Amino acid sequence: MHLSEILNHLGEERGQYFNAVSPPVFQTSNFTFSSLDEFRQAFTDELAHHIYSRGNNPTVAILRQKLAALEEAEDALVFASGMGAVSAAVLANVRAGGHVVCVESPYSWTKALLKDYLPRFGVSTTFVDGRETANIERAIQDNTTLLYLESPNSLTFELQDIRACAGLARRRGVVTVLDNSYASPFFQRPIPMGIDITVHSGTKYLNGHSDVVMGVLCTNKVMARKIFEGEYMTMGGILPPHDAALAIRGLRTLELRMRRCHESGLEVARYLEGHPKVERVLHPLLPSFPQYELARKQMEGAGGLFSFYLRASRPDQAEAFYNNLSRFLLAVSWGGHESLALPAVAFYNIPGREKPAMPWNLVRLYIGLEDPQWLIEGLEQALAHV
Ligand SMILES: *Cc1c(COP(=O)(O)O)cnc(C)c1O
Repeated sequence: MHLSEILNHLGEERGQYFNAVSPPVFQTSNFTFSSLDEFRQAFTDELAHHIYSRGNNPTVAILRQKLAALEEAEDALVFASGMGAVSAAVLANVRAGGHVVCVESPYSWTKALLKDYLPRFGVSTTFVDGRETANIERAIQDNTTLLYLESPNSLTFELQDIRACAGLARRRGVVTVLDNSYASPFFQRPIPMGIDITVHSGTKYLNGHSDVVMGVLCTNKVMARKIFEGEYMTMGGILPPHDAALAIRGLRTLELRMRRCHESGLEVARYLEGHPKVERVLHPLLPSFPQYELARKQMEGAGGLFSFYLRASRPDQAEAFYNNLSRFLLAVSWGGHESLALPAVAFYNIPGREKPAMPWNLVRLYIGLEDPQWLIEGLEQALAHV
């Protein structure tokens, strides 16, 4: 289906609501039945009927259809946060005494789930450098049920060879989950490459306006039903209909925003690569990136997120950079309209917190929708203080 059809029309049954162009927010918890027969019929298949909004809601259903089509998946489920989607995908595919193989540096809370939380239920995880498929192959054991990938990750952007990993896992009977938040389905579609489940922080590009926290899980019909009847209904971390309506609106401009972020991101990254106060830029679609060829093979673009190392010998030089960085907001997250800087050095002096694995001179930038030249001027001013 054409992208324009998906973003502008798919799932929108306008004839059912007075031909309104924008879908209504079905702000209801409950649905009634006109007869006992209808009531009974609905309970033969809860996934296919409107019974109660923890299960199905018509506004949420529009969003699900669009997201599934974007990922070229058979179905999609949406959650109250990205971690809601990650947790559902993982929990649906582990069992006591089982084992997970995961890439070395996934999203921090994903790592917490696998490393600190799941051992309570007898599930162990081996973390491996996923840049080499052979490391993943070696880590798979007889009791491995799940391979968890994130390509690229959202700080240092290591990739996995998605097709190779999917093929390997399939041969060993292992389910694959891939966090596709970085590239978004606009630039990377892992399901046609053989991945079983993709997950997203929809908080990032999919909603795209920094006003909704949401999660997305895309997969085949059988797995979607299993997760709907399991983790989705029992844990109940659903996306409210109002947030779904905001996300439908956000998606209308997915193509425009992704193209803009990709182009501006590369422009700013190239500028930084030539700057004397910059030691090194990490951007998967710069030729200097170690996995550039693989990135070009499996991604059509990169969005606006990348990192760089300041050429500085003392943390106070990094602090001077941020203190003079106007035009970027200091913040976590990314994927909205506004450009952001994530200061690694800030994590070095947090009382009661372990020293982070990332070096203090690492800067993660998110290039939003502003004029890239205007952002570059802002960076020039800040770098002069390093
Ligand atoms: C933000 C993020 C998440 C978590 O999503 P939330 O919506 O914050 O729960 C998961 N994976 C990646 C790569 C992220 O950037």
